[in-house]
Amino acid sequence: MPENYLKSAIHENKFFHSAELVLGRDHAVADAETFVTEAAQSPDGVRIISLTDLPGGNPALPPEAFASFILEHGLTPLAHLTGKDGNRSLLEGRLHHLAKMGIENVLALTGDAQNAGFMGKAKPVYDLDSVLILELIRIMQSGIQYSLGARALRSTPFDFFAGAVVSPYKTHEPDQMMQFYKLHLKAALGAKFVITQLGFNLRKLYELKQYLIREGLGALPLVANVYIPTATIAKMMKSGEPSGCVVTDELIRRLEQEKKPQRLERAALMVAAVKDLGFSGAHIGGFGLTHKDFLTVMGRASEIGNDWKKKIDELIFEMPGDFYLFSRSGDGLSDGASPYNAPSGQHRASMKYTVSRLFHHYVIRPESSLAKFFASRLHLKGIDPRKDGSWRRGFWYKALELSSYYRIAALQCQRCGDCIQEHLNYAGCTMRWCYKNLRNGPCGGSRVDGTCEADAGQSCIWNIIYSDTLAAGEDPSKFGRVLIPPRDWSLDRMNALANRFANIDNYETRSVRTPTSETNNNSDA
Ligand code: SF4
Repeated sequence: MPENYLKSAIHENKFFHSAELVLGRDHAVADAETFVTEAAQSPDGVRIISLTDLPGGNPALPPEAFASFILEHGLTPLAHLTGKDGNRSLLEGRLHHLAKMGIENVLALTGDAQNAGFMGKAKPVYDLDSVLILELIRIMQSGIQYSLGARALRSTPFDFFAGAVVSPYKTHEPDQMMQFYKLHLKAALGAKFVITQLGFNLRKLYELKQYLIREGLGALPLVANVYIPTATIAKMMKSGEPSGCVVTDELIRRLEQEKKPQRLERAALMVAAVKDLGFSGAHIGGFGLTHKDFLTVMGRASEIGNDWKKKIDELIFEMPGDFYLFSRSGDGLSDGASPYNAPSGQHRASMKYTVSRLFHHYVIRPESSLAKFFASRLHLKGIDPRKDGSWRRGFWYKALELSSYYRIAALQCQRCGDCIQEHLNYAGCTMRWCYKNLRNGPCGGSRVDGTCEADAGQSCIWNIIYSDTLAAGEDPSKFGRVLIPPRDWSLDRMNALANRFANIDNYETRSVRTPTSETNNNSDA
């Protein structure tokens, strides 16, 4: 197997460049083959090739189909893996496929909203999001336990080298802080490196590094996404395709006047800046770029060195009212030693929160007298409530159905049977309001106004959860520590309250994860 250039660059603390190839809706990929062939023939060429996983919500060749071509040319593939098109079983199967090919580098993402597809939009899946994919990878590294009849088995361990993504470019506090919190969880689940969302604001990009240092995560290798857009692509991004990109009118205005050499020069300035600012690498991408263009960018970045500071105006495109975590410093970036500008805001807890909280305290909490009373009436003694459904036919199970009326009316319950409403502080159920049904924090796709990438008429529910958590007097950073397990589909359409009393929902299997905690425990598939 050829050297894993990504792993060795990170271990040796050597700045690296990677190229993002977007595989399209065809198995004929002549442009990608030419790029890889030229990179392999160039002594100073790109050594790490990242392969997108059906990006933009469109059908495309998956990374597994092209990674062998990269390996054959002595280069290092980085396979993206999203949860948008396949459930946990398929994701595990794809990871076994990658392991069989000897591909260690996997970038875990939630995935874009579905877009075009054969005879209409595809069904959104999102059975696992980015953090749960990282957790699956972490467990598969030491072998996943499963049973076959009476036999207990464990899959062959494989040394995956997993990475995560984060957006530092969110324009509002809730979106941005939730991105930061989710990154804590990703670090705790074993992300070995982090690649940023693409963007065009160096101050915000560097704030991410400053934040990680402040939070004790400064050793987490951070790779800056340096995207080289044309004016046409920038306009598409501004309109939400692909989702989660922040593009200003000023950048579009400049791009309209520029030719390729100027665009490559701006990218070279950005590569020089992030190298100087201590990033681990630059992840370079752009539609229609040749390997020669990459050599131009890399070569110019070396020549520019720390002279990028003279042209910092080329690297900071700000949205009106952009949220910054730190105050501005004299060098045009942020002062990483200044107090955090978040969390902020004064809200009052809603009536829905107050009533639901009281109900949780007196009826649902396992220590409460009423919870013990109901549990004792459900005929659970001596049976496995997962395998034996007889307890669901008794009087008290049916009586608990009354709770569903409140859940549906006040909390828009979707009867997933595996409730996390109290974790979300009753702000709104993500099984109802999040297009991707996420349970561990937001995707990176929210629009610049904080609305959902899949529905411009609706706020991203995680922004509401952030604000309502503050209103409830709680610390929203809990979303960066508590890992909610994937939804248990055997509980679908069942009574969530009864499942709680039978102790078969997620309540006891949530876990607190921190980057320093022991994360080597394994669990059943
Ligand atoms: S609600 Fe938020 S987290 Fe869910 S899909 Fe929309 S933007 Fe993503």
